[in-house]
Amino acid sequence: MKITNAETYLLNVPLKQKTITDSQTSLDAVEMVAIRVDTDAGISGWGFNWNYTKGTRAVQAILDDNYVPMLQGEDPLDRKTVMRKLHFTNHFIGQVGVTRVALCAVELALWDIHLKALNVPLWKYLGPAKHKVKAYNTDGGWLGYTTDELLHDMLSMVDRGFDAVKMKLGRPDPREDYERVKAVRRALPDSVRLMVDVNTVWDLKTSMTWGRKLEQLDVYWLEEPMSPFDKKAHAELAHALDLPIAVGETIYTRYDFRDYIEMGAVDIVQADATKLSGIDEWLDVAALARCYNLEVIPHTNVQQKLHVQLAAATPNVPMVEYCYESLSDIWEEPIRVVDGYYTLPEEPGVGLKLTDQVLVDCRIG
Ligand SMILES: [Mg+2]
Repeated sequence: MKITNAETYLLNVPLKQKTITDSQTSLDAVEMVAIRVDTDAGISGWGFNWNYTKGTRAVQAILDDNYVPMLQGEDPLDRKTVMRKLHFTNHFIGQVGVTRVALCAVELALWDIHLKALNVPLWKYLGPAKHKVKAYNTDGGWLGYTTDELLHDMLSMVDRGFDAVKMKLGRPDPREDYERVKAVRRALPDSVRLMVDVNTVWDLKTSMTWGRKLEQLDVYWLEEPMSPFDKKAHAELAHALDLPIAVGETIYTRYDFRDYIEMGAVDIVQADATKLSGIDEWLDVAALARCYNLEVIPHTNVQQKLHVQLAAATPNVPMVEYCYESLSDIWEEPIRVVDGYYTLPEEPGVGLKLTDQVLVDCRIG
């Protein structure tokens, strides 16, 4: 099989829900870049990547200028060889961040072609470790909500069958965060797990002080308290607290995960295939975590469909994040959560083909 053509799409996809706010950003839309890779076998593979805000145009530029010309004539089934070649074109412009995000979009498209050629969905190809995947919900816990809105939305998630929910922290005064967690914890049934997410804006001192207080509130994990680049600080924090530390959504390589794990700086590994170079590297990280008896609970935004399939095929993944619910219909065959569990897709491929309507209506480049 040979690649004959590839086309990229830059998209701005509006949310159909209240403005989403965390400690870093506030948004009403998500930017995405999609890539379609065509073959002489008549099979097309779809890959994509995304960003909370602007900036994805740079990802499209890397794809169009570097990767798309290099894909011409390659055998898409030689995925690992092709990916290695693409990776080394970024020697001086950076091997993580924008280049990595672009690389992942290609990798997903190559996987998609392979799976469509075999006529199987990703999770069945990898081999199921489970046949249903538990969801935990982040959509009720945004930082911009008033405490009343927060309580209302968190409780409505529980009414819908979710028994694990997450709320955002990182207000300028951590005392406000603490009072909000206290109010939510008091309102939720004891059986419901409550996680908190700082989105990296605390320093070590703040994380120590408020982490110790959060321990007393039966919080299930503390997510991204500090800059992901500061592994040493995460190790100090994780060793000092009983509260599990979750990191991974802004970690871009298997080597960084190795360091986090070996330093004892992470308890919950939140590896996201769209921030690594794709499925193959995610599987490496999950296997490494398993050797250390660590759970992987993937970060998601709109890419639940990918991680639910990886979770189904990976023994040490107990659940997958659910959020941005208003965007669940952007996919040609959306997956749903019923009674707190994801349904698994049956169509062949990776399943990340955006609807034609999104590809036309939301296209900006
Ligand atoms: Mg997070």
